Amino acid sequence: MPKRIAIVEDEAELASLLDYNLTHHGFETQVLAGSQGTLKTLEGMKPDLILLDVMLPEMDGFELCRQIRRSSALSRTPVLFLTARSDEVDRVLGLEIGGDDYMTKPFSPRELVARVKAHLRREELDAEPAATEIGPFKLDRSARRVFLTGRELSLTSTEFNLLEFFLTHPGRAYSRDQLLESVWGEQRFVTPRTVDVHVRRLREQIEEQPESPRYLTTVRGFGYRFEEAV
Ligand code: CA
Repeated sequence: MPKRIAIVEDEAELASLLDYNLTHHGFETQVLAGSQGTLKTLEGMKPDLILLDVMLPEMDGFELCRQIRRSSALSRTPVLFLTARSDEVDRVLGLEIGGDDYMTKPFSPRELVARVKAHLRREELDAEPAATEIGPFKLDRSARRVFLTGRELSLTSTEFNLLEFFLTHPGRAYSRDQLLESVWGEQRFVTPRTVDVHVRRLREQIEEQPESPRYLTTVRGFGYRFEEAV
């Protein structure tokens, strides 16, 4: 789905230049002139990012930004200010206004598009859930931790990588060579036997009875499979 950008700018020429460039880069845009009804329109539109001119005809952009931050529909939407004067930058960066970034006019459309993309990427990273629940397992990729029914497993880096792979690829049998390629990658000096050693260590951590595993089972003559954890 294309990301939606609201362009709140009363200078028609600049607005259409921004509109043109953002549309050209695959964004969906809406130009708003910045009047009393703009907040309502923004709340209905729920854009992914707002470009906001500081000098607007009916209110100043700072006031509109304060209202955006108080609006439940928009409070988390990134706001990138477009300012005509560099002395406004201090106010843009003032914490009480809640702007995320600014560009001082004149600026190149290319730089603006790059800035918009960077903000949207950051939003996506923030939106990624910190931890994923997979049956009784909780996988926290950013912290590289795994919990089993609330208890944290004590994993080496390789054990974490291997368990992460199994948790995210359940129900399929993998040969030792496939596991080496997927988990160990380019590292040398590892042999298929390495996989067995790490599987045994993982079983000791995640299985009630490591000798008759419930999750990490052996596929005879082939390799291993992680059973769907439900
Ligand atoms: Ca203006």
